[in-house]
This record gives sequence, C-alpha cells and structure tokens, in this order.
Amino acid sequence: MTEEKLRILLVDDDEEDYIIARDILSEIKIMRFDLQWERTYDDALRIICCNQYDICLFDYRLGPRTGLELLHEVVDNGYKGPVIILTGQDDHEVDNEAMKAGAADYLVKGQINASLLERSIRHAMERKRVQEALVFAKDYAENVINSSIDMITTTNTNYEITEFNPAAEEVFGYSRNDVIDKPMHILYANSNDWKRVKEKIEQEKIFSGEIIKRRKNGETFPAYVSASMLKNLKGREVGIMTIARDITLQKRLEDQLMHNAFHDTLTGLPNRKYLLNHLEIIIEHARKNKDILFAVLFLDIDRFKIINDSLGHTMGDKLLISIAQRLKTILRCNDIIARFGGDEFVILLYGIKERSYAKMVAEKILANFKEPFCLDGNNVLTSASIGIVLSEEYYERAEDFLRDADTVMYRAKTNGRSSYAMFDKEMHAYVVNILQMEAGLRQAVVNNEFEIYYQPIISLADDKIIASECLIRWEHPQRGLVLPSEFIPIAEETGIIENIGRWVIKEAIDQNKILRHSGYLNTNFSINISARQFRYQDIPEVIRSIQEEVCIDLQAITLEITETTVMEDMDRSIKILKTLRDMGIDIMLDDFGTGYSSINNLRFLPVTGIKIDLSLTKDVAICSDAATIARAIINMAHGLNKTVVAEGVENKQQLEFLRLNRCDMVQGYLLGKPMPIQSLTKLLQKNNTISILSCVGKDSKYLNGSTRVYRSGAVQLAKKR
Ligand code: C2E
Ligand code: CA
Ligand code: CA
Repeated sequence: MTEEKLRILLVDDDEEDYIIARDILSEIKIMRFDLQWERTYDDALRIICCNQYDICLFDYRLGPRTGLELLHEVVDNGYKGPVIILTGQDDHEVDNEAMKAGAADYLVKGQINASLLERSIRHAMERKRVQEALVFAKDYAENVINSSIDMITTTNTNYEITEFNPAAEEVFGYSRNDVIDKPMHILYANSNDWKRVKEKIEQEKIFSGEIIKRRKNGETFPAYVSASMLKNLKGREVGIMTIARDITLQKRLEDQLMHNAFHDTLTGLPNRKYLLNHLEIIIEHARKNKDILFAVLFLDIDRFKIINDSLGHTMGDKLLISIAQRLKTILRCNDIIARFGGDEFVILLYGIKERSYAKMVAEKILANFKEPFCLDGNNVLTSASIGIVLSEEYYERAEDFLRDADTVMYRAKTNGRSSYAMFDKEMHAYVVNILQMEAGLRQAVVNNEFEIYYQPIISLADDKIIASECLIRWEHPQRGLVLPSEFIPIAEETGIIENIGRWVIKEAIDQNKILRHSGYLNTNFSINISARQFRYQDIPEVIRSIQEEVCIDLQAITLEITETTVMEDMDRSIKILKTLRDMGIDIMLDDFGTGYSSINNLRFLPVTGIKIDLSLTKDVAICSDAATIARAIINMAHGLNKTVVAEGVENKQQLEFLRLNRCDMVQGYLLGKPMPIQSLTKLLQKNNTISILSCVGKDSKYLNGSTRVYRSGAVQLAKKR
C-alpha cells in the first residue's frame, strides 16, 4: 500500500499480548509498520503528544482505567488519528461504548489474525481521511461564507432563514440572531419580488436578477441576487441559498451615465436624444390609438447670437438656464422640454385635448418672454419664434416631425420675430416635394437626365444671333420637363448644384465645339453660374480641367453671374473674375436692376457687360420710371465701356425702345424661346442668310424653337466685345 511505514502505538500492560500483536503485524505484507509499545496509561499519554502516530491500538483494560478513557484523553491532547480498542473477550456493551467514544474499531484479541487486523487498520485510516476531508470542506465553506463580501443566506423549505453571513449582517443591519428562523421575505422590499424569486426557483431551481432589498431600518437598496435550490446528500431539496450583492453604487453610476447621455449639462433639461426617443414612442402609441393628440413646439431664441456676442458666453449660458426655468414653470409637469443645442428648445405636449391648446401654450410662452430676464442684476430682453406641428397620421418618424417643426419655426421668424406659426397640410406637401426633388436630383446627375436648352441672343447691330444662353432642363422620368426655377434653388441649398454646374459647363463646351466643327465659329455660349457655385467651387479650375479634356478656345464662353453673388465678397470676386478674363472668358452681370444695383460698383468689376433683368424689360414700354431707369443703365454701362443685353423681350414695343436707346443685344420670347441644340443649329443656318428680326411676327413657329429646316449659309456673325 505505501512505501512509508505506518507508525503504530500499542498500549497494553500485557507483554505477551504485545508480542502476539507484533507477530501478527509482521505477517501483514501489504503494509509496513513501525510499532511502538507502551505498557501504562500514563506512559502512553506522555508519549503521544510528542509523536505523530498514524494509528493507536489501546487495550480496553489498562490497570484501574480503560482504553476508552485514554481515547478521550489523547483526543483532548490533540491526537487526531484513529484508535482501535482491543479487548479480552467479546462484549457487546463495550463495543457500543467504544463506537460512541469515537473508536474506529473494536477487536477481540483472541480472534485477531493478520488479515482482520490489516483490514481494520486500513478502514480506520480511510474513514479518518474522509472525516478529515469533510471537516476541511466544512471549514472551507464556513470560511468562504464568513469572509465573503457578498451577502449569503440560506433557508429551509419553509423559507425561514437558516444562515446569515457577516456581510449580510453588515448590509442589512440585522444580526444573525435577529433573522434566524424568520421568514426570508423580511429581506425584500417588495413582496411581489419575493414571490417572483420563489416561483422561479421552484420551477427552474435557479434565479438571478436585480431585486430591491430592505434593511432593518426600513431603507431599501438594489441588489444583484442569484439564488438556487439547496439539496442534501440524498438530493432532497432542503431550502434555498441566496447570494446577493449591494449594487447601490453601481446603479448610481449607471443612473448618472444614463442621465448624462439623455440630458443637457447646462440646463439639466432632456436633450435631443431623449426627446427623439420619447417622440418615437409617442408616435407609435398614437398610431394604435387615433384619439391621442400631441404637439411639438420648436422654439428658437431670437437674436441669441447677438446677446451671446455682446454680453459674453457666461451671460448667454445664464440666459439659457433662465429660459429653461421659465419654460418649466409655464408648462405642465408631464410636458417634455428638451434643449436641442444652441438656443433651440423643443417642447412636446402630450395628450392634449384640443389643437388650440398648442397655440395657447405658444402664446403663453411669447407673452411670458416679454418680461425681461434678470441676469446678475441686468435686465435682458429677448423673444422667441415658435413653430408648431400637430400630430397627424402622415408622420412616421420623429425626425420628420422635428424637420417640419424647424421649418415652420423659420417661417415664424421670417414673419416677424416673437411669433409662432403652425405647420399645415400644404406645408407638409411642400416639404415632401422638396425632399423628393432632392432625392430625384441626386439620381438625375447619375442618370444623365439633364439637357441644355439654348435661347438665342440677338445683336441689334445686325439683327443676327450672336450668342445663346444655356438654360438647363430636367427631363424627369415621371414628371416630364422640369424648369430650373423649380429645382435650381433646391440644388443650391443641398449643394447638388456643384455637380450640376460642372455638368452644364462641360456639356455647353462640348456642344459649342461641335457647333464650331459644323462651321458656326462665332456663336457664343452664355452659361449661368449660381451663387453657391461661385462661392464654393473654384470656377476657373473647373473650366480649366474641362478645357484640358475638350480642348477648346474659351473665347466662345461667357459666364452669367448675378450681381448679388458678385457683391457678396467683392475682393474675392474681383480676383476670380480677373482670372476668368485672363483665360479669355467673358463675364456678364446677370439680373441687373434687381438687387442692390450699383453702377458705381460696376466701375471696379472686370466684367464684359450686364444683362438687364426681364422684370425691368417688361415695363420699359409701359412705365416711364422703368424707361428712365433702363435708359440710365444703358447709358452708364456704355460710359463704363460695358455691353448691355436686355432679357425678356416679349413684344415689338420693348424691342423698339431698346433699339432706340442703343441697347447692344436682346433676348426674349419675341426673338426665340429656349430650344434644344438641334433647333438652335437649324436656326443658325437660317441666321446666316437673313436677319432674325425680319422674321418677327411672320413665322412665330420658327422662333419658338420648331424643327423646320433652313438653308445653310456663310458665317456672318462676329463676336461682339
Ligand atoms: P435667368 O438667368 O434670368 O434666365 C432667364 C430666364 O428667363 C430663363 O428661364 C428664360 O427661359 C426666361 N426667359 C427668356 N426670355 C423670356 C421672355 O421673353 N419672357 C419671360 N417671361 N421669360 C423669358 P428659365 O430657363 O426657366 O431659367 C430660370 C433661371 O434658372 C435662370 O434665370 C437662371 O437663373 C437659372 N438657370 C437656368 N439654367 C441654369 C444653369 O444651367 N445653371 C444655373 N446655375 N442656373 C440656371
Ligand atoms: Ca441668365
Ligand atoms: Ca434674369
């Protein structure tokens, strides 16, 4: 069994018995022994403390005392090994006594043989080992339970507490004695929670989750609990064991993080995310419940930037905080006020009875804002513009709601500050149309849905076509031909104009090149450049890159830029216009006479000429003021050596007026509507032989861009500078 010798102590006052025992032991081959013999009770007691015996064999009779007494004493003195009691004769009484006293076995001397003794020793040792392991396991478990930072409780099957560790004592404030035998539910804040845990364990034998617990002093706290059924060795359920951890701090941190994620730090109000989440839920709710009415108010502080800049950011912050506080006092507690960033606030009125309620709230806010805000003793006056959107079935997403609220808020602002406006069905249709247009425009660039129409520009020197204005058209797959007035503003706002603009320049240059190859060398193409294009795009660079691709003389290209666009940043404009002019490109100031027109500015601008806006042309023959202005413009432009084109010429009276006042060129429906390139080419063929103006009134079909074929002829037009 072992290489090591087992150390055995035999205590027997009879030497003969010792010799017998020694001989029997020597017969045992599978174990090796080191046998020590002591005759007396006292000798045995003395020696046992200083030696570590693996097993003891005590004779039952030891003088006046017994082996059992010795057993008790050695155990008291720290002996931990097994003890086998030997007796002279078999006595049931003594056997019982020995077992009760904790003897490992009881052997009758006369019956002992080697195998019996060997087995007895082996079993005694094994039993001792198991006992020790059990004690160790118990100690270990107790240690774990007692030193655990988690609260550990056990119950019996009646759910009465049977164990309550020090951590539990500390957190709950109960002592172990306070709670032993008490029902487990006293530790739960909420009886339903306890029921839930109990049921879960009964059904699934295990529970884990967060539970609110109650301390002795009545305070409640959150805990993470894991509980399971306790079973005894036979597998019988004997109660439950619960391990719980106080998660107050963790919860507080989580709550703080959660709060921060959904609140504005300056005002403490809910933020955009919070509002969007709520709005989403409410929209969903309202979808199922048609009677629910709610409203979104988008509020923007008027001139906040000025206040912020003039009084400083600290005051600006203080104003925002005061505004938040005022809004809270005006609104009901279940309305949500969120700060959307900057000086924008959004209010969600939920469960309102009538539509008029939203208006009333807006009026109340505006009236309240008439009172000055007192910031550090300074009275600050401000006002707000409010856009209102009421719940309607056509909203599916919170963002759509807010987009419209924002839009209508801007309408309120442009109507005059300190006012509110309400979003209605027409506005919704309008916004939806714009959004669809935007999506369509992005596709249109990719799908090549644009086309340029060309409107002839006639020189009044010889009444012949000298140039053409390039006017974009959109061949919409569903809507058909869409005019630029409908989509250019949207393209501008969304930035798509930059792509479209480049396409127009490239297409115009391509077509002009083809035209030149066909022999029409002197037809200028005049291309419109929008404000945003001019502002953000490097136009000279765009043209240069196209020129490299196409290889064309830029003398044939004119750009039309509105006066207002050029005035935005005069220094920059002048630089760009000079560069363009150096490239051989002509510049015409478009829509002249509509913006803050200034003949004086014209002096500094490197432009070729101006285009008198059609709104002015319209009136020249019927209104003497318009006539005076137009005459003055032409004269002054000529004085500055600029050419003048009048656009929007629709009748002979206008044409006569312009001719009389020495306008250089004219353009308008009277002379030709915008037409596809094929029609322009045909018109140019005719133009080579006859004066366009001689046709005026004779063949309007031709002037409207019809496809009638005209004779070709020699090129007569010269580029006018
Ligand atoms: P615009 O530059 O003032 O162009 C003149 C507009 O007046 C054109 O409208 C033209 O068709 C129209 N028109 C010409 N003659 C007459 C007339 O006798 N009577 C009347 N009532 N109208 C006349 P269209 O083509 O609808 O273009 C509108 C505006 O769209 C243009 O105004 C221009 O600002 C912009 N646009 C057109 N094409 C482009 C382009 O390729 N790029 C950019 N950025 N803008 C463009
Ligand atoms: Ca134009
Ligand atoms: Ca114009």
